[in-house]
Amino acid sequence: MDYKDIATPTRTKALLHQYGFNFKKSLGQNFLIDVNIIHNIIEASNIDENTGVIEVGPGMGSLTEQLAKNAKKVVAFEIDQRLIPVLKDTMGPYNNVSVINEDILKADIASYVKTELSDCEKIMVVANLPYYITTPILLNLMQQDLPIDGYVVMMQKEVGERLNAQVGTKAYGSLSIVAQYYTETSKVLTVPKSVFLPPPNVDSIVVKLMKRSEPLIDIDDEQRFFKMTKAAFSQRRKTINNNYQSLFVNGKANKADIVKWLEAAGIDPKRRGETLSIKEFGLLYNELKNFTELAF
Ligand code: SAM
Repeated sequence: MDYKDIATPTRTKALLHQYGFNFKKSLGQNFLIDVNIIHNIIEASNIDENTGVIEVGPGMGSLTEQLAKNAKKVVAFEIDQRLIPVLKDTMGPYNNVSVINEDILKADIASYVKTELSDCEKIMVVANLPYYITTPILLNLMQQDLPIDGYVVMMQKEVGERLNAQVGTKAYGSLSIVAQYYTETSKVLTVPKSVFLPPPNVDSIVVKLMKRSEPLIDIDDEQRFFKMTKAAFSQRRKTINNNYQSLFVNGKANKADIVKWLEAAGIDPKRRGETLSIKEFGLLYNELKNFTELAF
């Protein structure tokens, strides 16, 4: 039987009607109804018959079916139990899709990767994300040391711009540093509101994040490094020196020690956090071992 693409207004509306489905705003449910956008996402993902895909939030399967046509295997995590019978129906023609009715933030992804995707040569995360949890989803996946090669993900435009921001720009901050520490980021395309049902209140962007083959900087404790970088942005208009006053030993560090530490790493204490590259933050972090009085 020849099926019309799910990512079309007619098929999506027919499914909504057939299942009496009403959207839950609280779950970030904005379904894609333009198959061209999906083709762009698939193309940017470089998926082939040896690729395993992790999808977050398949909805009614608009992206999932196109992934199934191009990848070896798709494992799709959907929290909304009401969508499971819909997906059983729409994914019926594909034998390479597993739908998991779990919260992506709680699921044991490592064990699903082992059981479902161990015969895949590479693994990509491809998704039209639920926007209300974009950052926790990406940080959780990146920081788990999973065998994920990259991400092609749709999200709110502002978040995508932060992930992809260059040093010295307004969007550059601690989120840019975490993302770019683990991955090389690039913008794929911006997406108009009209390609969703219902249209979201915010603009959207598709971002690509490919895992780095070599670490950008040498860090012994990533969580401690991220805590240090975050503190540099706690008040964006302040200098790095002033922002760091509150990080160390419950805000009681000797100001002179902080200045010495910054200068030892070659950083002018009057600079602001947003002007420091990740490599400079790396120098600063590695200089900490010579300043044992600066504890956090
Ligand atoms: N992929 C579909 C599409 O593009 O048409 C739906 C995308 S919609 C923006 C986000 C989807 O994520 C919804 O189906 C929603 O139910 C699901 N979702 C929301 N929170 C989730 C969570 N914590 N874990 C897994 N799925 C979630």
